[in-house]
Amino acid sequence: MNAGNVVVKTPEQIEGMRASGRLLARALALVEEAVAPGVTTSELNTVAEEFIRDNAGTPSFLGVPAGSPGIAPFPGSICASTNDVIVHGIPSGNALQEGDIIGIDCGVILDGWHSDSAVTVAVGEVDDEAERLIAVTRNALDAAVAAAQPGNRLGDVGAAVQRLVESAGFSVVRRFVGHGIGEEMHEPPQVPNFGVAGTGAVLEVGTALAIEPMVNVGSPDVRFDADGWTARSADGSLSAHFEHTVVVGASGPIVLTRRAGA
Ligand code: MG
Ligand code: MG
Repeated sequence: MNAGNVVVKTPEQIEGMRASGRLLARALALVEEAVAPGVTTSELNTVAEEFIRDNAGTPSFLGVPAGSPGIAPFPGSICASTNDVIVHGIPSGNALQEGDIIGIDCGVILDGWHSDSAVTVAVGEVDDEAERLIAVTRNALDAAVAAAQPGNRLGDVGAAVQRLVESAGFSVVRRFVGHGIGEEMHEPPQVPNFGVAGTGAVLEVGTALAIEPMVNVGSPDVRFDADGWTARSADGSLSAHFEHTVVVGASGPIVLTRRAGA
């Protein structure tokens, strides 16, 4: 991982990232279509993994080393995060139930270029609070993307998320943040989902960011399962996550992982 300065991408490099983002968007759309009561999260994982490999890509999450000693590498091609799980849920044989919400996060490498995107979807009919959480988190991503304008600052992106989420009465998770992306999945800069508008690094044309608000209904605190990966809301409240890979273009943000019709 490059811990130094932000690496601005050339137009040619952005074309490579576009192809990666398109493949990921199609994979996520297929997974989203497959979500239904009775389907297991490992079945969703297989949908993503097979589609990515069939299209010359590599699922980038599979085998990612853990940040702490004694924890096995990530065993899935998607993160499948249901209900109170914020991020990094491990695909399993557990079946989805009517009324659940599930966050699906996935990453692709294509011709050396990374893309990273997540969506939270309802399993069948969900209650009003779950529906509102999903809508607010999706809108927070849209607001953050809209703030990724050349000449704006990183604080503008975080402030856009925080304003929208907190005015809805929900909380922004601070333990995890978005990130630069390109030849590595995680590059500088960090992209917090909170901040003060007008502060932080200036966004230059060619900056590629994975912007990913994580929103809890209750407190923003996090606890981890014994598997070392699964991150839940400490109070057990519902959590949602949306993410796009975005490039700061000369005339505004370009979303590389936009799904058809989304
Ligand atoms: Mg992601
Ligand atoms: Mg990410």
